[in-house]
Amino acid sequence: MTDQTPALELEDLTMHYGPVRAVDGVSFAIRPGQVTALVGESGSGKSTVGRCVVRLVEPTAGTVRIAGTDITHLSRRVLRKHRDDVSIVFQDPAGSLDPRMLVGDVVGEPLRIGARRLPRKERDRRVAEELGRVGLRPAVARRYPHELSGGQRQRVSIARALISSPTLLIADEPTSALDVSVQAAVLNLLADLQRDIGFACLFITHDLSAVEYLADEIAVMYLGQLVEMGSRERIFARPRHPYTQALLAAAPVADPVEQRSRTRVLLGDDLPSALDPPSGCRFRTRCPLAFDRCATEVPPPIPVGDGYAACHLVRPDGTGPDVRVSSGHEVGA
Ligand code: ADP
Ligand code: MG
Repeated sequence: MTDQTPALELEDLTMHYGPVRAVDGVSFAIRPGQVTALVGESGSGKSTVGRCVVRLVEPTAGTVRIAGTDITHLSRRVLRKHRDDVSIVFQDPAGSLDPRMLVGDVVGEPLRIGARRLPRKERDRRVAEELGRVGLRPAVARRYPHELSGGQRQRVSIARALISSPTLLIADEPTSALDVSVQAAVLNLLADLQRDIGFACLFITHDLSAVEYLADEIAVMYLGQLVEMGSRERIFARPRHPYTQALLAAAPVADPVEQRSRTRVLLGDDLPSALDPPSGCRFRTRCPLAFDRCATEVPPPIPVGDGYAACHLVRPDGTGPDVRVSSGHEVGA
């Protein structure tokens, strides 16, 4: 592996659950130390991408490479050798932590098995250190997960995920299940840890505003496919795909119900079924700008800045329309 080897590389990743086309040909790479946000509405296939990367499921097709190693179809046994390279933090810390284990054992478990096995004493020292790093007192090690608050539990999940020094962290909606009052603190903690330690991160979220200060790159997913990719700066300043524009037009508000109703102004109905995605451009059934070609031709990715947008209305020079303006929801330049 050289410095140029991506921490994560997905090539045409495809995951079908029987007839459900959850992920349909997703490709992108994350450089070492880079944060890529994967955004899109609930049901667009984001978690499935994360589950393929940590091999909770075996992809239907395509390739997953972690630090240069193709792990797409490795057996459980061989996969274990790579377990330290990648960790995942789930949305719901209550559901992802074993309630019968003391916090210290939960956090220290990755150092009890595998390549990074450490003797008990050394392990306890590392657990205390890791708890400190996520802002928890060492005494928390002797508590059970249910004795902690939601925010504290998610800090425990983060400590556990980072104790093996992974090169890549998957964070799947890590703050969505938390009280709004503690979401920012946990988000800031993750951002600080990422900057200090420098692990690469795939940050999965339905809330584009959550990644404004965290992501280097943004990948926008719609119904199993990427519709736009680019630097955070470019995506926020000049989103090119109508779907990205619609997501951005839903100005961040604390109330999730209110948030959904605002998004609906532009997006209308819910996501179509992944059982039978629309022909041509998958977004066309909800796109205010759709025209006949959108139903017959799959839009190719058109280069925009360092990334692309897959829309028939994006011109070869990377310019294109803005649904926020054309539908009266102008929100800045
Ligand atoms: P997201 O994380 O963006 O909300 P998911 O990856 O969870 O999306 O789901 C993508 C699609 O795959 C949805 O249509 C969902 O219902 C479906 N799906 C997810 N997991 C399974 C599963 N185990 N079996 C069948 N369908 C699934
Ligand atoms: Mg999800």
